Amino acid sequence: MPKLSMRITSLNDGGSDGWEVFYRARQMVEEGIAVTELTIGEHDIGTDPAILDAMYDAARSGQTGYAIVPGRPDLRAAVAQRVQDRTGVPTSSDNILITPGGQSALFAAHMAACNPGDKALFVDPYYATYPSTIRAAGAVPRAILTHARDAFLPDPGNIDTSGAKTLLINSPNNPTGTVYPPATLQNLADLCQSNDLWLISDEVYDTQVWQGEHLSPRALPGMADRTIVIGSMSKSHAMTGSRIGWIVAPVPMIDRLIDLATATTYGVPGYIQTAALFALTQGETLEAQIAEPFRHRRDLVLSVLARQNTVTAIPSQGAMYLMLDVRATGLTGNEFANALLAAHKIAVMPGESFGHSASGHLRLALTVEDTRLVQAVETLCAFAEQVRQAA
Ligand code: PMP
Repeated sequence: MPKLSMRITSLNDGGSDGWEVFYRARQMVEEGIAVTELTIGEHDIGTDPAILDAMYDAARSGQTGYAIVPGRPDLRAAVAQRVQDRTGVPTSSDNILITPGGQSALFAAHMAACNPGDKALFVDPYYATYPSTIRAAGAVPRAILTHARDAFLPDPGNIDTSGAKTLLINSPNNPTGTVYPPATLQNLADLCQSNDLWLISDEVYDTQVWQGEHLSPRALPGMADRTIVIGSMSKSHAMTGSRIGWIVAPVPMIDRLIDLATATTYGVPGYIQTAALFALTQGETLEAQIAEPFRHRRDLVLSVLARQNTVTAIPSQGAMYLMLDVRATGLTGNEFANALLAAHKIAVMPGESFGHSASGHLRLALTVEDTRLVQAVETLCAFAEQVRQAA
């Protein structure tokens, strides 16, 4: 076999990525062992039947051929309207590219903004695909480390921007659940303006805000021309498997991104786009209904945590996760997660799987039904207490 390209063999940096516990849990499930999986950010409900009906009807009516590459005009217009309504920033269809999910939008954004070898900044702890997505686009990932004591918010005064073209942020945040406050966003926007950076704003959790408000940094003064927003219907409409999302960007960038889409994805299936348009036109009631279980489960978990003092939560305001600090046990997140899985068949993600900043932490996805979730968190806390006392 001829050699593989360096680009593809270096996508992952080769080290342990902290996902072993996730794979072990999946293996146990396959062997028929009942594991409570609080690992992956996927709803425990499926896509709404009405959305599926729209998808089916569209496919049956013949929307199974090639779709127009940038996205259906009515869907682009609906997304533009949604973005404008939610942010107040004038937005037209020409600012929108429909993509197969937020993931492909993240790749496309870095392709459009970075030359080979440019540094691409992102905040640690981070969504697991960020570094490899940046490498896939030919750029060099540079993590911005953060601290638990700051709820893992970046300190804009302390960011090395040398050689950088982009800064990728994510609010509401996966894995921490924090929603960036306006002051942090303003300082990051200032940093981008004074260093001529593109700000890539991953807003795929923007319908899951429990406290405070989501602010899209594209709405800050002077930012519409240097912000690329990543949107997705995976989380807002429980459509993870449909692979549907978008990019909001200045028109000249969207024009070039259409060239990239023509060379890569060749668009999104028409019946998926029709279902997405139907879902968007259902308005906020459906979105609120899909988000509600996570709001409610977050409160449930916080009330369990309030009854003990070994495990603490990072203050969170959104998304479908809670980040727990288990440093009082003396274990790393990895050690804790592996021991918890072995002893109690509860699977959580070690903070180490999201970079360096969240070691000694665990990420809980709030994706199992209430009673089971509460039991799992009670067991987790009792286990932490046991470990602490034995230390
Ligand atoms: N960004 C973040 C922060 C995510 O958590 C995810 C999915 N877990 C994505 C982007 C990509 O989502 P999708 O490709 O399903 O739209």
